Amino acid sequence: MSDSTASGSPETLLLPRNPLTVTPLSNEDYEWLKELHSALWRDPNVSCLTCNKKGTFRTRVQGEEVMMRCDCVEQWGLHLWLLNAGIGLGYQRLGWDHIATIPDSVQESVLMYLEHGRAYAEVGHGLTLWSPSRGTGKTLLATLILRNLMATGVDGFFCLFNKLLTLHTAGWRDDKARKWFERRIMNAEVLVIDDAGKENPNRSEMVSAVVDEILRTRIDNARPTILTSNLSQEEMGERYLSDVVELFSGCNQSIEVTGTSYRPRFEAEMRENARRGLKFPVVIG
Ligand SMILES: [Zn+2]
Repeated sequence: MSDSTASGSPETLLLPRNPLTVTPLSNEDYEWLKELHSALWRDPNVSCLTCNKKGTFRTRVQGEEVMMRCDCVEQWGLHLWLLNAGIGLGYQRLGWDHIATIPDSVQESVLMYLEHGRAYAEVGHGLTLWSPSRGTGKTLLATLILRNLMATGVDGFFCLFNKLLTLHTAGWRDDKARKWFERRIMNAEVLVIDDAGKENPNRSEMVSAVVDEILRTRIDNARPTILTSNLSQEEMGERYLSDVVELFSGCNQSIEVTGTSYRPRFEAEMRENARRGLKFPVVIG
């Protein structure tokens, strides 16, 4: 958003162009998305989730209300590309502008990782974002890190921890599901696992085995994982198999996402934005 540049009219901004790495989906991935999303946005010439085909929309950039010109085709392409990486529309519309409540020291640590993110990703060095409190912005940060890495050409996937367990289980019975899991989860160049530790405690043995398999496979193949959790490293060691947690911690930088919940202020801002008719485009960050 901060890269926006003025167009002919001094009051109308242009959306930043999509990075060249945002390419059309393969037929297989597009069909998969259509199966998952019955109301998938299929034609940017007919509808637009950003401007509603008005061509422009009012939004907020760095605290200022501005008019922005929409590029419906670019927005559609970016939306599908991110959806295919497991990032839903809610997070697609949130960028660095929306993390003001996250302490500067945390933001700086994340930006320092991203400065060499591509090189870290190539050697399998990931990140763990953790905090004992909820709502401090771990998931939003994780999607921003993933989007920024993907913009450099890295293949990525975002998955809720509990969904990961469901998808893994689906692969036991279905060959297609297993192959999909291998390709998109096990072998994603960067995998975000969101909210580890949220599982049903009655399934702990099965969960430990799945966590062990996924993390070990990824470590063996130098594939980095970005993990968010309410658990500290010590608690993770008690919950899962301690040797894999130790191995994982060795190739993951841990950042404690301190601060208070951003949710109450964020929700109030979103309601106010909706009342004012403001729209937020799909962004990389
Ligand atoms: Zn549009």
